[in-house]
Amino acid sequence: MICSFLYQEELAIRKNDTMTSVREIKGIGEKTQKLLSKLHIESVEDLVHHYPRCYTAYPDPICLCDIHTGQRCSIYCQIASPVNMRATRRLKLCTCLAADQTGQIFLRWFNMPYLRTSLKQGESYIFTGTPVFKDGRIMLEQPEINTPDKYRKLTRTFQPVYPLTAGLSNKTLQKAMAAAFDIYQAEEFLPDNIRDYYDLIDEHKALYEVHFPSEEMSLKEAKKRIIFDEFFRFFSALELVKEREHQALNHYVISLDEHVKGFIGRLPYELTGAQKRALYDIRGDLAGTMAMNRLIQGDVGSGKTVVAMAAMLAAVKSGYQAAMMAPTEVLASQHYETFTRMFREEGVRVGLLMGSMKAGEKREIRTGLESGEIDILVGTHAMIQESVHYRNLALVVTDEQHRFGVKQRDALLKKGKDPHVLVMSATPIPRTLGIILYRDLDVSIMDEVPASRLPIKNSVVTQKSRRAAWNFIRAEVAKGHQAYVICPMIEESETLDVENVTRYSQMLAQNLPPEIRVEALNGKMSPDEKNDIMDRFGRGQIQVLVSTTVVEVGIDVPNATVMLIENAERFGLAQLHQLRGRVGRGKDQSYCIFISGSDQKEAMERLMIVGRSNDGFYIAGEDLKMRGPGEFFGTRQSGTMNFALGDIYSNADILKAASEAVDQLKESGYNFMQLHQYSLDEDLNFAKNL
Ligand code: ADP
Ligand code: MG
Repeated sequence: MICSFLYQEELAIRKNDTMTSVREIKGIGEKTQKLLSKLHIESVEDLVHHYPRCYTAYPDPICLCDIHTGQRCSIYCQIASPVNMRATRRLKLCTCLAADQTGQIFLRWFNMPYLRTSLKQGESYIFTGTPVFKDGRIMLEQPEINTPDKYRKLTRTFQPVYPLTAGLSNKTLQKAMAAAFDIYQAEEFLPDNIRDYYDLIDEHKALYEVHFPSEEMSLKEAKKRIIFDEFFRFFSALELVKEREHQALNHYVISLDEHVKGFIGRLPYELTGAQKRALYDIRGDLAGTMAMNRLIQGDVGSGKTVVAMAAMLAAVKSGYQAAMMAPTEVLASQHYETFTRMFREEGVRVGLLMGSMKAGEKREIRTGLESGEIDILVGTHAMIQESVHYRNLALVVTDEQHRFGVKQRDALLKKGKDPHVLVMSATPIPRTLGIILYRDLDVSIMDEVPASRLPIKNSVVTQKSRRAAWNFIRAEVAKGHQAYVICPMIEESETLDVENVTRYSQMLAQNLPPEIRVEALNGKMSPDEKNDIMDRFGRGQIQVLVSTTVVEVGIDVPNATVMLIENAERFGLAQLHQLRGRVGRGKDQSYCIFISGSDQKEAMERLMIVGRSNDGFYIAGEDLKMRGPGEFFGTRQSGTMNFALGDIYSNADILKAASEAVDQLKESGYNFMQLHQYSLDEDLNFAKNL
């Protein structure tokens, strides 16, 4: 069914053949090449697509009497002393005094010994930098030096600020970029009529302008074109995916009517309207002429699991096997328990397969699968290993699908012969965007949570209220409930991350009565440790679970009624919403406390969005409004998908345009392949990896 990876090797060869190495660029030697390679820049093409993170403008020079420490500025000064050089064992320091009519300032550079001869006493330059107070005086360290002439030119432009790596300076990269454009010519791939219609500038011009903007307006146009390109490539990759994965015929006609009625009737609750609609869609797919290829996009807690279970049950009752893959062992174990419990009466045999299981246990499961003794397999990516064979797999389900790479999902599909596919995701993308983005899948949206559930009560507070929050946890635990506390990762360092959670849980334990059991869970623990802790939390042996975001996906412990999120301002709104979704699953009132580490108005306002609503679709929409297209010159904060410049929310209009353009070109027989010939695999991967 899927052949996208067959092309990998062939492409690798072609890529080497046709790409121009960065070494061809004037001024780039082996050293710079190595540094660029760390940024995954190997070819000239890679380099010109390495976009600035943001831009700085050169300010008009000010007088020395007006400078402030910590504020970047430019000063127009005369060198007022000889340039001194002092060498220590590790450093070469050049220093001098500079002055204007209003004062003097000390300048200092590291490891630029040539300045001793190139800077002349009595000459005037414009120095740009951030004044600091050091060694008892105000100084400029490592200021940029420009002649008045050169500076005049600079002030009229935006200066690109690039993502860098240690040892590679912005200036070096800027120079390399300029030299690259001496030998690089981008090829236009959009027909004129499309460019005219969507008001897009020429490809080469856009690339050049994004690195060397001549003015604000042209930078805007350049970005528009590049963002359009990103989305266009994305949609055209989806088209290729569709072409390649020609929709399979339905080899497994399965009826939902006969088999799942009893199961649904025995559930302790009534299905929601959204669940019924999703099941209705699935019912049509499974009985149709083509194999199912459906995404269930449902907010956290909307009850996706039971919908998938009904489909799996129908497959089993029709004589086939079904499989469900989850992104974490914790979640897979939990699904396994739910399935075993709820399918007992149906006589369905469920198996669990995870990487951390013993070799013997795994072997037993594999034998059971092959012989058909196991009807439903639940597991992690361990279930896609080569040695796993099914007897007759007819339905594959991936839970929290955005957590998987496309290779993993493809591998699961290959375990059967064109099986039905059901993917489930809780990414709350506004409906209008969802329809555009998921063009290659049939989508059922579940935008309704069970009515029996009490809405979660939210509170957004600053750290001053931490003690009150802890007391609240104590009171809830006294009622027999449980609580989660989430600490964010600190600067992405895993060791700090672990310490943070451990330290926090110790602190919390000291502040709660000794009979309350507090435990810490972090991503660094072994799967066994994690499973054990989650298991004990699930059984109520642990009352308070302090954790990193590893609990974010899918976990269902209905007795937990408090979610406390520390430094909530560091999380994205969608992630906060996911975290909150861990509570409010049982019959009791649940609470979510967002503690903000910053009392700034903006941070608080952002948190108020999740504070005031429990509706994921509303939150996604507000997030969109809040970020808006205004953030043009700032760094982009992406929620779900990572385009280099584009943002599906704030650039929704360009997204729509690109989608339309792909449709139009498809009709006229445009060759989408030309866009992806060097990176087909990556592109397809990305396109499917929503
Ligand atoms: P998600 O969509 O986030 O995966 P789950 O499938 O884990 O949600 O369901 C969350 C909880 O809601 C589970 O405890 C499940 O038993 C319960 N649930 C599912 N459907 C309903 C319903 N219609 N009414 C009441 N509770 C339900
Ligand atoms: Mg789920």
